[in-house]
Amino acid sequence: MKALVQKTEEKQSIVFEEVEEPSPLPQEVKVKVIAAGICGTDVHGISSLRPPVILGHEFAGVITEVGSEVRQVKVGDRVTSETTVFSCGTCPYCVEGHFNLCPYRKGIGSGVNGAFADYIVIPEKALHVLPSTLSFEEGAILEPFACAVHAVIEQAKVEEGEKVLVFGPGPLGILVAWLARFCGAQVLLAGKAEDRGRMERAERYLPPLSTVNVDAIDLEGYIRDHIDPYGMDTVFECSGALPAVYMGLRLLKKRGRFFQLGILHREVPIDFDEYLFSRELVLSGSRTQKKSSWEKAMAILNEHSFPLRELITHVLPLERWQEGFALTQRREALKVILKPGV
Ligand SMILES: [Zn+2]
Ligand SMILES: [Zn+2]
Repeated sequence: MKALVQKTEEKQSIVFEEVEEPSPLPQEVKVKVIAAGICGTDVHGISSLRPPVILGHEFAGVITEVGSEVRQVKVGDRVTSETTVFSCGTCPYCVEGHFNLCPYRKGIGSGVNGAFADYIVIPEKALHVLPSTLSFEEGAILEPFACAVHAVIEQAKVEEGEKVLVFGPGPLGILVAWLARFCGAQVLLAGKAEDRGRMERAERYLPPLSTVNVDAIDLEGYIRDHIDPYGMDTVFECSGALPAVYMGLRLLKKRGRFFQLGILHREVPIDFDEYLFSRELVLSGSRTQKKSSWEKAMAILNEHSFPLRELITHVLPLERWQEGFALTQRREALKVILKPGV
């Protein structure tokens, strides 16, 4: 089969090549990949990457073969999968259900072969059956949706009336903003001038959600005059841009909470006296998702409709991956979906 393989740590080593088709172990299924989304980490780098490995961790497809011990799913089922396919089960993180933090964790598309291929094998326990209302393309967005559930519902536990500021109107930032709205928060999504199209999409489909262009307005004054003179309760930094980190810290009210979701790829000097001692801010983060995030995500999507398809701006055959990666890198695309075998 054809697959997109990263050969070494270097992004330049990605090649689209012929590889051996995988076959499932007794507790695994083989899935024909129908749609797989490009994530920013595919383009900019994943810290847990163990090359050579097939990339791709956001996907949906159809089961074509099941291992001898598989009981809950069958050939023909439409499925997606959690990213974590191996965790040790015995470390203190696993014992408490924080599988995303297990030091021995392996994820698809980084630690083990991923979904930018005709087929992928997945342990039965990591699978989720797609709600019948979702297409395969939308199914490929469930992974970032589960990441947003982990951030908004599990980490921040956003509540009704909370004032939330989200930086970075990429797919994850928009999903975080939508979910915070869903939890009843008053949400402000902040981006740059070049993000106007993305912010219009975010705003059009789940009002009332306000978006602001940080290049065009004085965000501090805007929040003081229109939202709360004391500042915001909670900030989610999804852009990975240093100025957004500092702006977010400044715009929080005392005792506010800051969650880092974007990857900065650098150390960030922070004034502890000002932010931690004087203002009692809480700084935290949100790393990917875990089983409980997926269960909550599936429960929400079985009951409520989110306009996930509006995040998809491009659908390309897998062999045109370079175009998709370039669109993602240049931030011209929101979510690019690659389709193997077309
Ligand atoms: Zn991702
Ligand atoms: Zn563990």
